[in-house]
Amino acid sequence: MKRQDGCKLCRQLGVKLYLKGDRCLTEKCAFERRPYPPGKERFQRRKISDYAIHLMEKQKARAIYGVRERQFRRYFFKAKREKGRTGENLVRILESRLDNMLYRAGFATSRRQARQMISHRFVKVNGRIVNIPSYLLRKGDVVALAKENDFIKAGIEEAVKRGIPSWFQVDADKLTFTVLNIPSTGDVNLPFNENAIVELYSK
Ligand code: ZN
Repeated sequence: MKRQDGCKLCRQLGVKLYLKGDRCLTEKCAFERRPYPPGKERFQRRKISDYAIHLMEKQKARAIYGVRERQFRRYFFKAKREKGRTGENLVRILESRLDNMLYRAGFATSRRQARQMISHRFVKVNGRIVNIPSYLLRKGDVVALAKENDFIKAGIEEAVKRGIPSWFQVDADKLTFTVLNIPSTGDVNLPFNENAIVELYSK
């Protein structure tokens, strides 16, 4: 997959990916304008193989979390080694990424912005700066911003109004959040089927 990070990819994969945050809510999201893949007539019927469907589910997941193929594959095998259902484990691993957690807790408007904040050394985990976006958080970890930032503060207040997922305890004044739980498929609404991804790698 070519590295794309805008709404072109929404169109290609047929789903709003929110890679640039709220851009997908505007009419700039190409998916809204032309909700069918490029080069295909709107009503053209085509046979799609199971493999192609499974592959597409993986591409969606990779695009949403911003994970490259090699790392994604590593996540899969880690998920497979763990107890329980592989698909659920995989989602749990993806969800526990620091960039994703920052985004979900309302500290960034997109995972991409979260990655920038992390690599610019804006983010602390349990009191220490972590500059690796793929860092995996655990239950009980406390994430804080290393620098005061009014812009981020305003964003968090907005997010609090909209509602922050129950697995976070957010302190908007101190710019911190605690991870109370690592969510999985039952908690988050994901536009891809994790079991299709498991099928893909199990062949
Ligand atoms: Zn979009």
